[in-house]
Amino acid sequence: MGLLHRARAAVTGRLPVKTARSRLEAPLASVSFDDFPRSAWTTGGPLLAKHGARASYYASGRFCGAVEDGIEYFHRGELKEIEAASHEVGCHGFGHIRGPQAASDALDLDFERNALFLEQELGGFRASSYAYPYGDVSPRTKVLAARRYAVSRGIYAGVNAGNIDLAELRAVPIEARRWRPDRIDAAVQAAKARRGWVIFFTHDVSPAPTPFGCTPEMLDYVLQSLAGIEVLPIKHAMAKAVFGTA
Ligand SMILES: [Zn+2]
Repeated sequence: MGLLHRARAAVTGRLPVKTARSRLEAPLASVSFDDFPRSAWTTGGPLLAKHGARASYYASGRFCGAVEDGIEYFHRGELKEIEAASHEVGCHGFGHIRGPQAASDALDLDFERNALFLEQELGGFRASSYAYPYGDVSPRTKVLAARRYAVSRGIYAGVNAGNIDLAELRAVPIEARRWRPDRIDAAVQAAKARRGWVIFFTHDVSPAPTPFGCTPEMLDYVLQSLAGIEVLPIKHAMAKAVFGTA
């Protein structure tokens, strides 16, 4: 992420587009996988099951069946398996484009293209939640996403508590390139102290992860640190935070 992107993300992260007052009476957590590399499901799935956690998988149609830069992405049919295991399938756009650099009609077309892809894979399916590719947002793209999705997740670090922005939920990375267990602990503590909703995001789950992914041990560490906290897919967690129900 370049300096301009960082500056823009830092500013727009403070400009809420769709604010809701959290009704949470206890901390809540979500775990999410972006793009997503196949190992997020084949290796991450069993770890989630071990901890009784349900996650959100943000799929970009462009990656289905693809191998890019040596990374194997999800296969056809795996979204069905993910849904059958009570995880959430969310939208990450079809082409994995940077929203702020795309015209509004091009971005809308990309949303639509991924909606068609997800519908073909899952049958009569409509994604409730979205994750911004690269976490890159502008006030304009936040409004566009908010029109289409009940909830959108960014990568602006922090815990969602008090007034939360449903157009850009904050999220904490689980990434090999900046693995900091103390920051995981601090985020979980903040969620407990503020009755907040802590969301984690990563990509692949592999013994030799990409810089943006994690090892099975890292994911296990996060899930272990969430012991005693309900871990729900983002759309279910959103319902609980906004309506007080899951
Ligand atoms: Zn992505």
